[in-house]
Amino acid sequence: MQQLNANSLEAFWMPFTANRDFKQKPQIVTGASGMYYQMNNGHRVLDAIAGLWCVNAGHGHPKIVEAIQKQAAQLDFASSFGLGHPLAFEYASRLTSVAPEGLDHVFFTNSGSEATDTALKLALAYHYARGEGQRQRIIGRQRGYHGVGFGGLSAAGMGAHKKQFGMLLPGAAHMPHTHDLARNAFSRGQPSHGAEIADTLEQMLQTYDPSTVAAVIVEPVAGSTGVLVPPLGYLERLREICTRYGILLIFDEVVTGFGRLGRPFAADRFAITPDLIAIAKGMTNGAVPMGGVISSNEICQKLMETAPQGTVEFSHGYTYSGHPLASAAAIAALDVYVNEGLFEHATLIEPVWEEHAHALKAVPAVVDIRNIGLLAGIELGEEVASGKAMAKKVYDFCFERGVLVRPVANTIVLSPPLVISEAEIATVFSAIAAGLKTL
Ligand code: PLP
Repeated sequence: MQQLNANSLEAFWMPFTANRDFKQKPQIVTGASGMYYQMNNGHRVLDAIAGLWCVNAGHGHPKIVEAIQKQAAQLDFASSFGLGHPLAFEYASRLTSVAPEGLDHVFFTNSGSEATDTALKLALAYHYARGEGQRQRIIGRQRGYHGVGFGGLSAAGMGAHKKQFGMLLPGAAHMPHTHDLARNAFSRGQPSHGAEIADTLEQMLQTYDPSTVAAVIVEPVAGSTGVLVPPLGYLERLREICTRYGILLIFDEVVTGFGRLGRPFAADRFAITPDLIAIAKGMTNGAVPMGGVISSNEICQKLMETAPQGTVEFSHGYTYSGHPLASAAAIAALDVYVNEGLFEHATLIEPVWEEHAHALKAVPAVVDIRNIGLLAGIELGEEVASGKAMAKKVYDFCFERGVLVRPVANTIVLSPPLVISEAEIATVFSAIAAGLKTL
């Protein structure tokens, strides 16, 4: 059992954490296996959020562990700048074979933030290559989260994340979000009302002039702001408007990719093909940092054919793009997802997940429950501030009881490993129900 003293916690400036609070009452994970975390005080915790929406096959999957170990001994690092190693090529081919049709090229990054920045830069470069370099505006959405790089943060719709950083990208604008408690509270799967919210995009295009807009970026299901499921018909309309005005549609599938909705991508679940898909997290089952952008053939070909032979077609890349260890982990993770039927398992167990989630409807503090795939959001309180305090209380209660959930403002968010069983689903929701009772 590893114990840490308060002094040894000082140097690590933790991300998105109230550092001073944490260091007074640290929660230290020392191991993980399958659905469970092991804490340094011996406490065992059922991980109902897949690490941070990423450990889709459960923790420490032996095939992924073995692949990383083997690769570390074989080839630790090789740059992908003008040099190549087999696994990055192999993984790109494998990945595109499960990606939506017409998206056959992958650009590797190391995180979701880098993936969304890369997707936005690809959109600008594509329009430039077409002789439409004036298309520089990016349109995101309120309550969108696209990581923390300057591009993704600018496109995101979370004011609290921006206030320390000034203006960010001047060309970013935001559509309204789709969350509508009055019409859609307690929807199961896609809500019925709100397809017309997509029409605000068209109104914005009249304001800005469509020929200045490069791309629209959305999470198909917004994760980090509380699991906001797109209304029926909404994504279809966004696709149609983007196509009509020559604007690229980017799906940020950092959360929804790799089986979260029971299919490889949300694009498959909703039967809508975007031009670019940003990915990360489940790509390597969270075991090695990796992200990427899956690109349409049209975008890739345009950049290839307009650059003179012998020149770099896209002036972008990271030292660790296509890192050997990440590539090995990603190939192994994809094998596990496909060969062990995890997408199918997620689909089969989704109705059980939905039933358990919606069984909390009668609790007075609960103002909404929403779910799709193996995602759920339980929104608390009429006021965001009091709901936030309640969500944190439920989090603390569940943690003590051995279940890890995630409080996001006034919503308890859940995204378990796809391997979750019916019994584990019951454990998760009974802990939450008991936690809600204490409010
Ligand atoms: N995009 C979405 C939808 C995310 O949920 C996240 C992270 O939660 C990111 C991008 C950023 O990914 P990362 O933290 O790996 O940079």
